[in-house]
Amino acid sequence: MGFDLTNEQNDIKQAARQFAEKEFPEVGRDLDTKEEFPREIWKKACELGFVGVFIQQDYGGAGLGTLENCLITEEFYRVDPGMGSVLLTSYGSEMIQSGGSEDQRRKYLPPIARGEQIIGMASKGSNGTGEISNATIEAKRENDGYVINGEKTFVVNGGIADSFVVVCTSNPGNYDPFEKHSAFIVGGDCEGVQARSYRNKLGVRATDIARVTFENVRLPLENLIGKEGSGHSLLKQFLLRAKVYISAMGTGVSQGALDQAIKFAKMRHAFGHPIGFFQGIHFKLAEIATSIEAVRYLYYKAGSEIDQNKPNSKLASMAKLLAAEVSAQVTAEVIQIHGGYGYMKDLDPERFYRDAQFLRILEETTEMDKAVIAKSFLGAGIMGQI
Ligand SMILES: Cc1cc2nc3c(=O)[nH]c(=O)nc-3n(C[C@H](O)[C@H](O)[C@H](O)COP(=O)(O)OP(=O)(O)OC[C@H]3O[C@@H](n4cnc5c(N)ncnc54)[C@H](O)[C@@H]3O)c2cc1C
Repeated sequence: MGFDLTNEQNDIKQAARQFAEKEFPEVGRDLDTKEEFPREIWKKACELGFVGVFIQQDYGGAGLGTLENCLITEEFYRVDPGMGSVLLTSYGSEMIQSGGSEDQRRKYLPPIARGEQIIGMASKGSNGTGEISNATIEAKRENDGYVINGEKTFVVNGGIADSFVVVCTSNPGNYDPFEKHSAFIVGGDCEGVQARSYRNKLGVRATDIARVTFENVRLPLENLIGKEGSGHSLLKQFLLRAKVYISAMGTGVSQGALDQAIKFAKMRHAFGHPIGFFQGIHFKLAEIATSIEAVRYLYYKAGSEIDQNKPNSKLASMAKLLAAEVSAQVTAEVIQIHGGYGYMKDLDPERFYRDAQFLRILEETTEMDKAVIAKSFLGAGIMGQI
């Protein structure tokens, strides 16, 4: 088994880095302050084919794998985690590609790949459990379609999305999660859909995150993704990929913070030496670099396994858990290496530190990741359905 990237994968990584280094630095801090989505950069990233690379060529994408998507993600988040959010404009469309009808794929995927439309994904209950078995959005079958009611807090792109993939409870009397939920495509402009964007977020402030409510939203049958009752399995497949993306985000955030620390250690002088002269700083930098390398190879493996059709939810959860926790620790340590300057908003370490916290919560929290990992060896008999 090898860990070397192919020439094509190295080229993709380098192209993503060049794009990010050219486009992000000038606007990143400003859009973070204003909490503004980078529309122009998103358009350019789509034109150059960086967004939704997993979308098959028949539907306007590059038809690449999870690993390639992750390589781009790492490079974008390395340069600026806030701007990396432009990649999330296709977040959730994987469920249309994997479970949708040919008509749904042809209608929804090409505009996302071209940068004409943005999608959001509303999956979990806002009642505090983080499990879809407690989803608070309900779909009722009525005449020739469905009526949807409920709300979802914290939806990425919620306030700017042209459409949503929404996972609802469609059969509340059924206790089997693999029959209880269904996934739908809901237009952002459908009557009864309302989004309110959150202000004053801690991190990833250029990403729009909103509370989305669905009030008597009427959908035709053709908006159901796959079969009625297949929502849970579609979501599980999607979450597996999403966890590996998050792991690549964490690798990028940590690497970007390390880049800043190395530069600072060479430049900042104390007691007559650059601070990189002191052993205390060597140890910190060496430990950070070692953790990042471990995280990177874990996501390479988890992403490659998905691309080889051997999805492994334990490994994906491990990759996400480690990357999220490492990025939180690394960004805190990089602030320490910067001393007083690390505490100031004029430099980037504090922004990377804030952005890293997002990764510990997005999709399942790191605590839930631990539950998935433990369940893989303790079994459902002891731990129940997660
Ligand atoms: C910035 C941001 C963006 C998001 N984007 C999206 C999105 O695009 N689409 C979407 O559907 N969702 C999104 N989410 C929602 C996210 O998926 C949930 O916030 C997350 O799953 C946690 O759920 P919760 O907020 O209800 O926390 P809770 O479930 O209330 O958890 C609170 C705390 O209790 C712990 N906890 C809960 N249950 C257990 C348990 N069984 N065992 C151990 N500990 C437990 C949690 O780990 C956490 O520490 C986003 C969230 C944020 C913050």
